[in-house]
Amino acid sequence: MQFVNNKKRMDLEKQLREIEAMGNDHVGSSTDTPLRSDAFELSDIEKIAKIKEDVRNIMNTLGLDLTDDSLKGTPTRVAKMFVQEIFGGLHPDRKPKASTFENKYKYGEMLVEKNITLYSTCEHHLLPIVGKAHIAYISNGTVVGLSKMNRIVDYFAKRPQVQERLTMQIVEELQHILQTKDVACVIDAKHLCVNSRGIRDIDSSTVTSEFGGKFKDPNVRRDFLDYINLDTEF
Ligand SMILES: [Zn+2]
Repeated sequence: MQFVNNKKRMDLEKQLREIEAMGNDHVGSSTDTPLRSDAFELSDIEKIAKIKEDVRNIMNTLGLDLTDDSLKGTPTRVAKMFVQEIFGGLHPDRKPKASTFENKYKYGEMLVEKNITLYSTCEHHLLPIVGKAHIAYISNGTVVGLSKMNRIVDYFAKRPQVQERLTMQIVEELQHILQTKDVACVIDAKHLCVNSRGIRDIDSSTVTSEFGGKFKDPNVRRDFLDYINLDTEF
């Protein structure tokens, strides 16, 4: 019995060291999206006007005929999509409001919101990332509406992203809103830069995770992973 406990403890310590080491790796690159301080000096409409010209230039350079009926609207369409949709989550004004509720039911177990659809964009290639996010938290007296978790995923996904940072941003935001470290997130996603070009591996997907507070305990973590039973379908 003593051995089992010791082994459990050693496993836990090993995982804590691994998490510690991972944390150190991230010290240099903050979890914040790298934005310049003047990022919001231009209004959305000014950005759309500028990006429209940039897209027009790219298409022109590629030799496309921008007077063609099918192509002439593309620069405007892409500019609007970048600013208002797929990169709309860069703007702090679009962050979902943090309305929380008192945990009236005194539900003290973990709450899992799984299979949250995720569309993001790889910041290295500007190609889509498509997948599922799974979130869990253990309330310390505060709860959020379920759809709030979907909205937070969507907000941080709508940026040029790396999946590791996205996972951490979601956890940190929920830790802040819920006033607890006991938040975890697993993301299982396909990167079209891997699936549709380059190595062209259509079957591979990338799994990232961030386990805060009680989720660093292997038993709690196991419960969460059992709940989400990772066999994401696309
Ligand atoms: Zn990429």
